[in-house]
Amino acid sequence: MNKFLSDQIEKTLGGKFPLPDKFQALLKLVSDTYDQFEANRKNLELRLSEKQEQTSESKYRSLFEEMADGVYKSTNEGKFVDVNPALVKMLGYDSKEELLSIDIKTKLYFEASERDSAVQQDNTNGLAVFRLRKKDGSEIWFEERGSYVSDGNGSTIYHEGILRDVTKRIHTEFELMRSQQETADYKKALNQSLIVSIKDKNGVFTFANSNFCNISKFTVEELVGKDQSIINSENHTKDFVDAIDTTISSGKVWRGEEKHKTKDGNFYWVDSAIVPFLDESGKPYQFLTISIDVTERKLADEALLANELKFRSMIEHNEDVISMFDAQGNFTYVSPAITKEFDFTFEECLMLNAIQIIHPEDQPMMKNFLLEVMQIQSIPFKCPVFRIMKKDGSHVWVEGTLTNLLQNDGVKAIVANFKDITKRREYEEQLKTRNSELLKSNMELDKFVYSVSHDLRAPLSSMLGVIGISEEDTKEPETKEHLAMLKASIKKLDLSISDILDYSRNSRLEVNKENIDLRQMLDKITDNLKYKNRNQVEIKVELNDNAQFVSDKNRVNIILNNLISNAITYQDPKNSDPLVNVKVDMTDTETNIVVKDNGIGISKELQEKIFEMFFRGSESSDGSGLGLYIVKESVEKLKGKIAVKSIPGKGSEFSILIPNN
Ligand code: ADP
Repeated sequence: MNKFLSDQIEKTLGGKFPLPDKFQALLKLVSDTYDQFEANRKNLELRLSEKQEQTSESKYRSLFEEMADGVYKSTNEGKFVDVNPALVKMLGYDSKEELLSIDIKTKLYFEASERDSAVQQDNTNGLAVFRLRKKDGSEIWFEERGSYVSDGNGSTIYHEGILRDVTKRIHTEFELMRSQQETADYKKALNQSLIVSIKDKNGVFTFANSNFCNISKFTVEELVGKDQSIINSENHTKDFVDAIDTTISSGKVWRGEEKHKTKDGNFYWVDSAIVPFLDESGKPYQFLTISIDVTERKLADEALLANELKFRSMIEHNEDVISMFDAQGNFTYVSPAITKEFDFTFEECLMLNAIQIIHPEDQPMMKNFLLEVMQIQSIPFKCPVFRIMKKDGSHVWVEGTLTNLLQNDGVKAIVANFKDITKRREYEEQLKTRNSELLKSNMELDKFVYSVSHDLRAPLSSMLGVIGISEEDTKEPETKEHLAMLKASIKKLDLSISDILDYSRNSRLEVNKENIDLRQMLDKITDNLKYKNRNQVEIKVELNDNAQFVSDKNRVNIILNNLISNAITYQDPKNSDPLVNVKVDMTDTETNIVVKDNGIGISKELQEKIFEMFFRGSESSDGSGLGLYIVKESVEKLKGKIAVKSIPGKGSEFSILIPNN
């Protein structure tokens, strides 16, 4: 019997009691029925709850399976326990099983540190952003909502979470960050290297950066509130300025080069872009000017241009014909002189070939010459004289240079520079004939002078003989005096004639070099001059002959004779100690002879004249005035030099330097 029922019966009837069999059987039926019912109810209850459980599990499953976000459950050791298909796909794995098999720490994280920071973030706010490595190695960024499931003691059993792919967003954010950084960098760089200013819509400065101030020499305070006129160089035309205004006020960017004036009045050049900023109605409300300093280049350009203009005008005004032709001889440039000189027009010339205008007889020579010029670059070659055909068929003689220039573009170019020398050639020819005529007549004259002088000496010496006899014959003092005067003037005449003979010898005769014994020569000269040396002038000779003197004996003799003779003649009669010093220094290459006296000397003004023909220092001089002239001429014939130093009242010093060979 059912225990619940028997308990109830016992409570109601009290104690053990015998129940009628009929009642017993009924009771048993009721009790069995109840048991049956109870069993059924329990069964139903069980089935119901089973059913309920089944529905929520499948709901969760399908959600889990079909969710777009990744869902996972993982162990503390770094293994997935469960993952949904979305996560498998996101991470690029082929199957759930494959993903479950990997080690999360090493396979999914790029760096251990990244995992640590992801875990930390996760602990603080339950929302983490981190990246994982996909199977192909690329990165995928996740935003995670996750939680730790722990046991009663607080240690983690497993970890579960939902992962959302935020790669696109993160990349965009990174991109933005990078471009923001870049913009900031650019801004900084621009401001550092560029000249920047801002003007309002009326053209008044509202901003200028430090570069602007540096180049213009104005301070920001001086600039702000002023308009463009503060830096106006007055270099640009009104059209230029108007064009800028039109461009920028119509909202377009203007680009160009401007010349400005600094505070201290100097100029600078900038390459600028003026950018108008437009309001909603499309009208400019401010203008940003960004410039770079191009002063140096501009100045160089200006100098180049000025130079070019200078050279151009030099070339165009040159009387020489300056032309340029290519390697084939085709003219690429001819200076205007070509029209004047050869009758060709500029245009006609450009149609011609350089060789074509050369006289046919001179063409082979010039072709060869051109080939030579082509070998070497940038050196002007002086070309032989040749003929250029004029338009009318006549020719002119020219001379000039050819230069092979390799131009910037690598093309060979010949620069030819020619001068018409036809007239000069005619003159030269005339000069040549006149010269030879002159030479001939000169020689004849010399010959004449020589023979006359020579012929004159004989009668003079017979005259002297006759005077000698007469002097002995007469006792008349007056006659004696007259005869003495006659003798003196005849001697003077003879001396002059002998000078003339020396002169004519020097100009007529070739230089004849031989070994000279200078000591012997000097002895002879001083000996011969004894008759003149009445004042007993002491003649001292100092000779350093370390080499053999080789020169023209006659000329050296004439030179020394004249110098020593003068040194005796122009002594001061009052001088008690008259002296002539001859000093010779010889080397293999030259001989230096100095003739020094302590005589009357020569004033500065006269020093310049004493070497002139027939110059005599004073009326009292009884010479011919030819002596020093002959000395100078002779020294020059020997390719030597002569110099004089003299102090009036103290003495004179003549020094000559003659090449010794
Ligand atoms: P000359 O002696 O025949 O007058 P020179 O040609 O020899 O002609 O000399 C020209 C002039 O130079 C002389 O008249 C004289 O005034 C001056 N002169 C030449 N040599 C000397 C000298 N050694 N001392 C002073 N004057 C001199």
